[in-house]
Amino acid sequence: MTSNDELPFRIAVGIFFFLTMLIRIYYQSKVQHETIAVSTHEQRSKLFFQIFALTYLLLLLYVFTSWLDNASLPFSAAVRWIVGGGFLLAYTLLFTATHAALGRNWSGLLEIHTDHILVVRGPYQFIRHPMYAAFILSGIGYLFLSANWIAGGIYLIIAITMYADRVSPEEKMMMEHFGEQYTQYRKTTGRLFPRFRK
Ligand code: SAH
Repeated sequence: MTSNDELPFRIAVGIFFFLTMLIRIYYQSKVQHETIAVSTHEQRSKLFFQIFALTYLLLLLYVFTSWLDNASLPFSAAVRWIVGGGFLLAYTLLFTATHAALGRNWSGLLEIHTDHILVVRGPYQFIRHPMYAAFILSGIGYLFLSANWIAGGIYLIIAITMYADRVSPEEKMMMEHFGEQYTQYRKTTGRLFPRFRK
């Protein structure tokens, strides 16, 4: 593919990336005054944040430079738009719905705020980790839309690794804080895949 053919894909990846930043900055501004009652897994979570920042850098390199062109994958344009665009659209909707449902209970680290409530509305009525599911959807989307195994592939691997690393400590923390309420909640929801039947 010539770089002219690649341009629409670069622009689309850039738009999804920019949207993610906007949504995150908007919701981040709503939690900045929360006080923290419990914090766990802090060093590991911070490390993953730094690694994620590097993977964002790789996406930006794909968007703005031709440095990663040697890592391109032979996907057809149709597959790139339909699979990549479809997954990234689903991701953007789920990511926004998740942030909207969590509201001031969101935190980038594993933390419980004072006055923290267990959210069971929106995507949380079906699935306990919609935000991590959304990140994995975005990894698949970026992989297909960029058709670049460095930019999209590394992002996807990091998203899955971060999920695997955080999910058990997070559920343990929630269990310790919410007790029976969380035990009941676990029975009616899926961990990463939604459960629709009660
Ligand atoms: N694992 C969730 C949330 C990610 S944000 C997801 O993937 O959607 C991480 C923070 O969300 C954690 O610090 C925890 O305090 C909070 N959290 C996770 N599930 C929650 C819930 N159902 N209700 C309220 N807060 C929750």
